[in-house]
Amino acid sequence: MITVRDLTFTYPGASEETLHGLHFEIAEGEIFGFLGPSGAGKSTTQKILIGLLKEYGGTIEVMGRDVGSWGQDYYQHIGVSFELPNHYLKLTALENLQYFRSLYAGDTRDPMEVLTWVGLDADANKKVADFSKGMKVRLNVARSLIHHPKVLFLDEPTSGLDPVNARKIKDLVLDLREQGTTVFVTTHNMMVADELCDRVAFITAGNISVIDAPTTLKKQYGKRNVRVEYVNGTEELAQQEFPLDGLGDNAAFLTLLQSGHRIETIHTQETTLENIFIEVTGEALRV
Ligand code: ADP
Repeated sequence: MITVRDLTFTYPGASEETLHGLHFEIAEGEIFGFLGPSGAGKSTTQKILIGLLKEYGGTIEVMGRDVGSWGQDYYQHIGVSFELPNHYLKLTALENLQYFRSLYAGDTRDPMEVLTWVGLDADANKKVADFSKGMKVRLNVARSLIHHPKVLFLDEPTSGLDPVNARKIKDLVLDLREQGTTVFVTTHNMMVADELCDRVAFITAGNISVIDAPTTLKKQYGKRNVRVEYVNGTEELAQQEFPLDGLGDNAAFLTLLQSGHRIETIHTQETTLENIFIEVTGEALRV
């Protein structure tokens, strides 16, 4: 659905290049994530992909066409939800969506339906000026879906949302994928990357260091161990680790379980995407 080859970009007037030759491909119906700290180049890449920034190096094809060769009809096929909400503040949420819906030539969704998807149905007739930041983010997501886009670009889609609404947006994105929508999401939130993305690219300082499925990365970098915490004979908390492979035949593990000591916890020692990010890139995500 999206093919990016050797993408470079320098902001006009800037002395340094921002993107240093990015390669990636996104398949139809895939949720692909750009995970990286702020300033890494995530938004810049998205702005190039949606045609907002033009003087880039390299090649980009979206839906089989060079991105530069698409005209206004490009926006009939893509949906964009960026971090900075841009709505008509004096209009209600419903009026905003009715207006944006009228700009599209093709088939569109019922505004009330998309407001319900993002949990704003009860606020449909409130002026956007009275919306919280999180409500505006959700309205932005609703707006990006109004015209059945084939490709959805989401920039920090759960930014400023409480856990319940963040869950709602993540579930919505997963539902859209089931319907065949391709999603390109940028985030510095490793939970978003981990829970949503089929594949994730680690980006720092305009370079991609890794592209893979979160589960594959966790298998590759995690320890395949089980840690058992138990209360030993002197009433102290003790712990032992055992290899996950062959656990059922591991005499030491079985002896511990049968020892009569009180077992407090048993956990596999998977690593988090954030730990892998730090290990691979040498940078923290929350910069
Ligand atoms: P991210 O989305 O990962 O936080 P950005 O793509 O916004 O990162 O920014 C990448 C780099 O480009 C940063 O160093 C930022 O300062 C720089 N940058 C972003 N926008 C502009 C601009 N309009 N002009 C010059 N430099 C910019």
